[in-house]
Amino acid sequence: MAKKILLVEPDYYTRFPPLGLLKLATYFRNQSFKIELVRGCKKPSFIPDEIYVTSLFTYAWKPVHEAVKFYKRLFPKSKVILGGIYASLLPDHAAKSGADVIYQGIFEEADTCVPAWDLVPEWDGSIIFTSRGCIRNCPFCAVPKIEGKLREIIPSIKPYVYPKHTKIIFWDNNILAAKNWRNIFNELEELNKWVDFNQGLDARLINEEVARKLARLKLKYVRLAYDNKAQRKKLKKAIDHLAEAGIRKRSIIVYTLYNFHDDPEDFKERVTELLNWGVTSYPMRYEPLTSLKKNSYISKKWTREELEMVAKARRVLGYAGAFPPYEGLVKKFSKAKNFYEAFSLREPKRKKGRSNKCARWAGGLDWREVVCLSK
Ligand code: SF4
Repeated sequence: MAKKILLVEPDYYTRFPPLGLLKLATYFRNQSFKIELVRGCKKPSFIPDEIYVTSLFTYAWKPVHEAVKFYKRLFPKSKVILGGIYASLLPDHAAKSGADVIYQGIFEEADTCVPAWDLVPEWDGSIIFTSRGCIRNCPFCAVPKIEGKLREIIPSIKPYVYPKHTKIIFWDNNILAAKNWRNIFNELEELNKWVDFNQGLDARLINEEVARKLARLKLKYVRLAYDNKAQRKKLKKAIDHLAEAGIRKRSIIVYTLYNFHDDPEDFKERVTELLNWGVTSYPMRYEPLTSLKKNSYISKKWTREELEMVAKARRVLGYAGAFPPYEGLVKKFSKAKNFYEAFSLREPKRKKGRSNKCARWAGGLDWREVVCLSK
């Protein structure tokens, strides 16, 4: 009799479907196993032989434990395998859930399977990894620990694009460092679907050629990072290349790390620079990789009050957590003598009768959906 496999996505917040489980679904279907995908704690239509539970960030561990306990109680004879990011980073803690097996790292046998997109018919985007790992070793990043050095895993994306999807979403950690990036970009041009390099692009690898090729794609935004001041020169150069290639600066979203090795003044200066360069700053609060509670870490150079000021400014002055380079905000940050002035909560004045330049950002629930490149 065919083996029965239950795939479980715990009930934590996520904007994306469980890619690993969708690949496992195909992997098991290829062996003629019966599979079912559930979210949270729900009784499936069969008694499974094996139950695969995935996990995400370490601070989202509680719903993972709840799911494992629920299915262990419901099916005491079934084997429960717990994998994913949390299980890989904190295996000992994950073992306390009661799972029979803690699976660390990537399940290589299934990694190149085409995800079973039919299981999430409401989702509209083919999520693809063309490579795993990264050439860099940023101390705040889980990628080098979980995935190791960069390696290409698929030569072509065409078999991985679900015909019904209008978007292609890359989860490569550093796609520009992969040898076959040109082939991938050429295929994207041919496919002519919306493209999102969701994990960001390495600004240090953006030259004129990369910028020109990016400008030919259907991108709504380009994501870069400004983790520390040492990246300043190369980041500015990348932004200039992108702008010269025709990519609208306001559509360049730059993740701006704080609460790491920086201090508030350093962070304020980086945000101010980005606004003056005409790009959008998206502050990213550093959280240790193994944190069990979100936003609980405070670095030595920050205080709780300063972190709270950033959080409030993002809510009040920014849009959906980002600081877009609209006139009032650029002036406010440029004039501010220090962090406290920049992040104080007086909203920038707007002239009567004139449309707020930020208004174009306000139409959508998610700024990621609102920003458009003019092409
Ligand atoms: S470049 Fe990006 S993916 Fe690579 S180690 Fe640094 S943060 Fe992680």
